[in-house]
Amino acid sequence: MKKLLAIVLTILMVISLMTGCSKSANAPQGASSEKTLFNAGKYTGEGQGFGGTIKVEVEVNDNEILKISVLEHKETPGISDPAFAKIPEQIIANQSVAVDTISGCTLASKGIIDAVKAALISAGATEEAISKALEKGTASADIIKKSADVVIIGSGGAGMSAAVEAVNAGASVIVIDKQSSVGGNTLLAGSALNASDPERQKQQTMSEAELKTIEKILAVEPKNDAMKEWHDTLQKEIDDYKASGATYLFDSPSLHKLQTYIDGDFVAEIEKVEILGEEAPKAIKFLEDLGAKWIDQIQAAVGATWKRSHTPTTDLGTKGASFVLPQANYAEAHGAEIMLDSKAEELIMIDGRCTGVKGKTTEGQPFEITASKGVIIATGGFGANVEMRQKYNKHWATLDESVNTTNGPFATGDGIVMAEDVGANLVGMEWIQLIPTYGKGVFTPYIENQFYINKEGNRFVHEDGRRDELSKAVLEQTDAQLYIISDANTVKDGMTTTGTNVDERVGNGYAWKADTIEELAKMINVPVENLQASVDQFNNSLKTGNDPFGRTVFDKEFGVGPFYAGLTGPMVHHTMGGIQVTTSCEVLDTNGKVIPGLFAAGEVTGGVHGANRLGGNAIADIIVFGRIAGQNIVK
Ligand SMILES: Cc1cc2nc3c(=O)[nH]c(=O)nc-3n(C[C@H](O)[C@H](O)[C@H](O)COP(=O)(O)OP(=O)(O)OC[C@H]3O[C@@H](n4cnc5c(N)ncnc54)[C@H](O)[C@@H]3O)c2cc1C
Repeated sequence: MKKLLAIVLTILMVISLMTGCSKSANAPQGASSEKTLFNAGKYTGEGQGFGGTIKVEVEVNDNEILKISVLEHKETPGISDPAFAKIPEQIIANQSVAVDTISGCTLASKGIIDAVKAALISAGATEEAISKALEKGTASADIIKKSADVVIIGSGGAGMSAAVEAVNAGASVIVIDKQSSVGGNTLLAGSALNASDPERQKQQTMSEAELKTIEKILAVEPKNDAMKEWHDTLQKEIDDYKASGATYLFDSPSLHKLQTYIDGDFVAEIEKVEILGEEAPKAIKFLEDLGAKWIDQIQAAVGATWKRSHTPTTDLGTKGASFVLPQANYAEAHGAEIMLDSKAEELIMIDGRCTGVKGKTTEGQPFEITASKGVIIATGGFGANVEMRQKYNKHWATLDESVNTTNGPFATGDGIVMAEDVGANLVGMEWIQLIPTYGKGVFTPYIENQFYINKEGNRFVHEDGRRDELSKAVLEQTDAQLYIISDANTVKDGMTTTGTNVDERVGNGYAWKADTIEELAKMINVPVENLQASVDQFNNSLKTGNDPFGRTVFDKEFGVGPFYAGLTGPMVHHTMGGIQVTTSCEVLDTNGKVIPGLFAAGEVTGGVHGANRLGGNAIADIIVFGRIAGQNIVK
């Protein structure tokens, strides 16, 4: 069984090859009279990974690469671990840098390969001599056969939450993932989990503008009985809140449900929204019990529309790690097997029931896993599949390769295709979310102390709006880009409250920093008077509760330097549509009938968010419905 890759904050990894003829040297030596491949010694080299420079030290004798040590890197822990574990090992085993990159951490792999190559060239090698093509072994044609009560395809937050519930119910579980590490997009998450949590939210006050937002929600005509019930509950809660003279930030499952449903344009499945709003607070507790921890402040993620986003600490590496590694560690410790580098390709159906899954390992070896209780598809969305984006897109001018994605390359909709092949119904496939703010120019997913300007220096949108509205507004601006402007309320001593080192980003050219607004305007080449007017407008709106663009989510007055700017633009971020499931996560066919033995949860499903997903609601969705799938498949 492959062991889970441990998250490490600092990697100093030494991989040595013990050979009888190795000759150690502490410093480069001159070439010997015989023709040799290298000048024996230790050499350093650098390459560019995803997060920045990767520095390695390579030790060689006359003809062999003996040892590769990673000295420095800024790659994301967890995601890049497989590259650091495997690439040096493969280079040494093959005595060549022509090794394959590792899926899911391609840039880290390339950075390591380039760094080793640079070191070897310093050791006197020619590029040709160290790049000999590898002899690829042919994968065994023998089928790997395994069986378990429950097979889960996908090791992201949905799959791993399902695994926890299934092992807790006494089932044997195999989780397969085509990547070399667990986590999927969940590991990359920004990271916000929406749940009403009045105890924590009480630490903040509610502004007049926020109260007006609730009144606006209460003024929306209920579309059905469930919505009317949420509406009536919220009305009562708010009446009680006002009568008590309270000033803290109000929240409740009713408000969460109403915001999810209204901002999803009333096309979400109402029973799923009901479950999401009620169960999200329990998802917080579920993760806490498994070891996740939160920073104190409850914030509003971009597109969340309310301050109910919970942010994990970075104790487990990335912030997103807390949404998946606690479950993965627990499930594995309680007997679940995690098969990495294993791609599911087809569901096994016998007499209309799903009884397992077939696929191939990265090496090409076929596998077949039978599941006595059934299979849970938790393969995530299709944000990285341009063909599927184009096939289903109805609402954006194009979603071809010119539109980047925030998703990992594995988000190719495989589960949707496999389910459709066995008759599953798909819902809401045209609802594809663009996020207006992603990348190194974005320091935090939270918006309350930031504002956006276009390249003319003017605000153009209410920053607390829905992601589809924000993205549409950005696409209408010059170069379809925006600057996010921050002050010391977001970046203090070079760091955000969510742990991003912004000064390092400035140093690497991803962001700008200035002591005054005037200086910042000059740096980003926008008219000073426009940027100053934008600052004044932000502060005036905060004071009066009357923003020309309708913004209501604010925190503190803007104006304490240093000031920062980051440049960004819309990217494909989330796919709201997918496999149709019951509230028990059983997959439905095109006739509305349950496909026995087949379950699905997470971004691979449709119906939870409707036309637009609130920022922070996806993590709530995958934990809540992942758990439900894991509980019900065992029942
Ligand atoms: C950069 C980024 C930041 C985000 N930030 C937030 C946030 O802060 N808050 C929020 O609510 N949402 C956020 N989201 C959205 C959220 O992270 C995702 O919707 C959610 O993590 C999806 O979880 P999942 O378990 O359904 O799928 P994933 O976590 O994507 O896991 C799916 C897994 O299935 C595997 N897989 C796919 N196909 C196969 C196959 N054929 N065989 C075997 N394995 C397969 C993949 O390799 C992957 O590991 C963010 C998304 C991204 C990309």
